[in-house]
Amino acid sequence: MAEPVVFFVIPCYNEEEALPETSRRLKQKITDLYQRNAISSESRVLFVDDGSKDHTWDVIESLHQEAAYFGGVKLAHNRGHQNALYAGLMEALKAGCDAAISMDADLQDDINAIDQFIEKYKQGAQVVYGVRDNRDTDSAFKRGTAEMFYKLMNALGAETVADHADYRLMGRIALEALSEYTEVNLFLRGIVPSIGFKTDVVYYKRGVRVAGESKYPLSKMISFAVEGITSFSVKPLQMITGFGVASVFVSIVCFVYTLVSVFTGHAVAGWGSIMISLWLIGGIIIISLGVVGEYIGKIYMESKHRPRYFVEKMI
Ligand code: UDP
Ligand code: MG
Repeated sequence: MAEPVVFFVIPCYNEEEALPETSRRLKQKITDLYQRNAISSESRVLFVDDGSKDHTWDVIESLHQEAAYFGGVKLAHNRGHQNALYAGLMEALKAGCDAAISMDADLQDDINAIDQFIEKYKQGAQVVYGVRDNRDTDSAFKRGTAEMFYKLMNALGAETVADHADYRLMGRIALEALSEYTEVNLFLRGIVPSIGFKTDVVYYKRGVRVAGESKYPLSKMISFAVEGITSFSVKPLQMITGFGVASVFVSIVCFVYTLVSVFTGHAVAGWGSIMISLWLIGGIIIISLGVVGEYIGKIYMESKHRPRYFVEKMI
């Protein structure tokens, strides 16, 4: 088998400080892999400039001058990490790669795991997830919120790989499958596991940023979490029905309590009828909302036009 053409896809938003060091280490890695005949000489590093406001694009251009295997895509506007990554993966697919490895520009993900990624790919895996061993290097806040998020995601029924961010390898077949998802609300950590095919995991230690600061402030983290949940689950809508049913149940308890109060003479005239109708009508209204919600959930899921299946083998 010829050596695979591997594309390293790196979304960059205001990363002028991190790129010099990142590219230096990637250069070492890529030349090493190439010399050991692990990857084809057609392999590339593809930086995606996600509408940066600093000199990120200039840095990418000068890297390209320096070595032809450094390439870049400049997005016209800041579209967020997930969209930038997707853009890079699709460009890599168009350029004819056999596999694409996505990683952050800050080298928090140990690049030495790449060797194992390629190893597992050669053993037949179409998706290899980088899973971090521990979160020692994250702040307690980031660790806590991340843990809550993954728990909530799984409780709401979206399939995610715990402690896996977007450091992963995808083979050509998986990339082609990914390209069939037409949705614009992109949550790759949920979509990729739903693609299927043979997958594998590589464990690595996550370090600290090489330079610059996090491009994920709390506001972006929250919208990322909301995006993840709402693009994979209509459970919040279905929960309304549950609240409605609970309300009707309360109305039954209320009904009994009111009757007892009225017959034992503890109630003011008219109080009973108000109490009962209040809970009953409330319950009915909430259930009705839930029913409407169920249909909206269906419409929402349909409107994504997600592919129904991918054939892995046929004999
Ligand atoms: N990023 C991006 N667009 C954005 C925000 C972030 O392309 O709008 C990139 C960023 O340059 C980095 C990656 O996404 O390569 C992850 O961001 P960061 O390392 O700041 O996140 P953290 O590790 O703090 O969660
Ligand atoms: Mg980072």
